[in-house]
Amino acid sequence: MRKFSANYIFDGRGNFLKNAILILDDDNSVVELIDTKGKLREENNLEFYNGIITPGFINAHCHLELSHLKHYIEQKTKLPVFLQKVLELKITEENNQINAIKNADELMQQEGIVAVGDISNTDKSFEIKSKSHIKYHTFIELVGPDKNTIDNIIEFATNLKQKAEQFNIKNNYVPHATYSVSEKLLKFITDDAYKTNSIISIHNQETASENQMFIEAKGELIYALKKINPFYANFKPTYFNSLPSTLVHLPKCNKTMMVHNTYTTPKDIHWVNDYTKYAYWCLCPNSNLFIEGKLPDINIFTDEKVCIGTDSLASNTNLSILEEIKTINNNFTEIPLSKILTWATYNGAEALDLQFKLGSFEKGKQPGVNLIENINFDNMRLKNESIVKKLL
Ligand SMILES: [Zn+2]
Repeated sequence: MRKFSANYIFDGRGNFLKNAILILDDDNSVVELIDTKGKLREENNLEFYNGIITPGFINAHCHLELSHLKHYIEQKTKLPVFLQKVLELKITEENNQINAIKNADELMQQEGIVAVGDISNTDKSFEIKSKSHIKYHTFIELVGPDKNTIDNIIEFATNLKQKAEQFNIKNNYVPHATYSVSEKLLKFITDDAYKTNSIISIHNQETASENQMFIEAKGELIYALKKINPFYANFKPTYFNSLPSTLVHLPKCNKTMMVHNTYTTPKDIHWVNDYTKYAYWCLCPNSNLFIEGKLPDINIFTDEKVCIGTDSLASNTNLSILEEIKTINNNFTEIPLSKILTWATYNGAEALDLQFKLGSFEKGKQPGVNLIENINFDNMRLKNESIVKKLL
């Protein structure tokens, strides 16, 4: 049994408890979180830390298998160029891939990450994920704008799913992005989602010309896509933003995680909330700064269910949820740290269906224990020097 205390314990559900005491069993499950109301009690074997203790972080969006592309793509190219570079590099840089995946998995553990929603287009990461201390939910990503190629895509994805199951990896099918999956393929994913009660994840409104593509079939994104696949020459606009145009083909009753949301509008959010009660908005701010040099207007999401992802090392310099929290904390000073920490813990766990085990210090859960050091306690904000240590 271990007993932790700190200046504050964040419970995962939006509350900072001053000088609280967290008691964990030998199997690291929570026995009790005692709110001392700021009066630290004398307890045998109490470990006191300077900083904030939080549950383990959840990285709701990553691509482990792109870890070998760190430093290969220059920053602020914007998404259309970034996509072309990833396609080129995927083919040429496979040698270091396995080592890079292993290092990235270890890096995330050091950063206090206990669960990851990870996109897979290949089986390269499966063995490492199956052996890791991190709980991975693997999203088998389907890409294919042309309905004529759907049989090959489904056959490939079905094989990948079988391999994931051989490694005992929790997984389900997801669409890549609003602009890269045919209606027929979306139907295949939706039918499977209803049968298996799976979690949908989709890259959403990451670049300005994504909406433009759906509204008028023009702009940088469709121009770049035409170069990759001639199918896009016949792309028909829907006259709506990309998100409503696509979501209408996805299930209403499954958890659905929109990833990035850099160009999402309040009208889109309203539309999504009318369509489904199970929307999660996954923010990857450092990846947005890396690719687009622009952050979403995070203020418009504060009443929504938000979770946080790092994206991959192809579009980020680190796989650290704490660094993502700092970016939000620095750029949106009116959003309280307690809210951002809820996004990074409980909401991420809930988005990945892991809320009964992870995300908060509630009795019986095994959420992991992080310590954030170097806090500005005067205004309860992080500093640039804030670091996270994994206590358990
Ligand atoms: Zn991504």
